[in-house]
Amino acid sequence: MRKLFLLAAAFFFLNGIIAQRTIIYCGQLIDPKNLQVLKESSIIIEGNKIADVVKGYLTPAAGDKLIDLKSKTVMPGLIDMHVHLESETNPNRYMETFTFNPADYAFQSVVFAERTLMAGFTTVRDLGGSGVNISLRNAINKGLIKGPRVYTAGKTIASTGGHADPTNGYRRDLMGDPGPAQGVVNGVDECVKAVRQRYKEGSDVIKITASGGVLSVAKSGENPQFTEAEMRAIVETAKDYGFKVAAHCHGAEAMKRAIRAGVNSIEHGTYMDEEAMNLMKKMGTYYVPTIIAGKSVADSALKPGYFPDLVTPKALAIGPKVQSTFALAYKAGVKIAFGTDAGVYAHGKNWLEFVYMTEAGMPVLEAIKAATVNAADLLGDDRLGAIEKAKLADIIAVEGDPTKDIKAMSRVKFVMKNGVVYKNE
Ligand SMILES: [Zn+2]
Repeated sequence: MRKLFLLAAAFFFLNGIIAQRTIIYCGQLIDPKNLQVLKESSIIIEGNKIADVVKGYLTPAAGDKLIDLKSKTVMPGLIDMHVHLESETNPNRYMETFTFNPADYAFQSVVFAERTLMAGFTTVRDLGGSGVNISLRNAINKGLIKGPRVYTAGKTIASTGGHADPTNGYRRDLMGDPGPAQGVVNGVDECVKAVRQRYKEGSDVIKITASGGVLSVAKSGENPQFTEAEMRAIVETAKDYGFKVAAHCHGAEAMKRAIRAGVNSIEHGTYMDEEAMNLMKKMGTYYVPTIIAGKSVADSALKPGYFPDLVTPKALAIGPKVQSTFALAYKAGVKIAFGTDAGVYAHGKNWLEFVYMTEAGMPVLEAIKAATVNAADLLGDDRLGAIEKAKLADIIAVEGDPTKDIKAMSRVKFVMKNGVVYKNE
């Protein structure tokens, strides 16, 4: 018995020596959960987790590593709930479908992922690509490349001719007839199969295109593209596999069907009406606005030839409307999680969404809460979203005070993800 005790004591003693602590001095520390800014605090990190947060500047013990962010504003690592890491907008984007091999998407996604992490986004939800986004997540997890923690949808699920049908707008002989394996479904059975296919491929979350969208080569940007029964089948099957469901949606009718079917978030939500907002509050559905994507496509549409003819009018009509929809939804008390649709605009500029959210009436600390606490809630990941005991050490710092100047969110000087420092300027 005594031997066992000594052994245990020796184990804990050695363990204490081996696990190096990192102490971060924070001049200002944003606590989005309680919507407050703390002065002069220290965060204690052990391994990849936060061990404690204390008032004042803790004197380091021998062997502790010290990071001095006294002149900075520290906050939890940001979470973007809507990105596309495989690609980025450019006038040749539509041609890339025919000229790019998977490796071309893969190489550029490495660059976009690192850019996103360096902009302070330590976690993202990739809501749709070719499937390269699954390999990207794996490479980041293995430590082969630098990037945020990725929750990926793999390939988005759409109906035939729907927003994410990969052969939309193609010449007839190239269109073919894609099915559940390619993320195109019709009827309940195929919906079930497509979700299971995503599970097989290694997705973390399900993305569907409940209504038409702006950038697909198709006439409507808002028509309903799934029946309610189809979406119910997707949501029910997703639950079996522990998936949450995100629904791209501009039109109100499609939105109401998706909310009633039980999706976890509405993306974009452009033509959200009062009834839809009430339904979202009743069902606990999150709204992920992506204001910057709307503004960006509207800007690009003004450049002649940037988009195909079918896309331009949709971009001009839908794009500028998202910000006012966001303002109404916020006022109505709909739950909001931060998301930008990065890739539709240039990766790394995700911070601009904070400018647009606050412009539309959301206080700065609430916007940061949407990108931390609320996003972690929507992910269903309780290890993320706050700087407190037992959370993962995802911590960033900006120069300046975002509560006084929101553009400070563009000046990210420190990034730690999972206890590892990626940036310290
Ligand atoms: Zn998107």
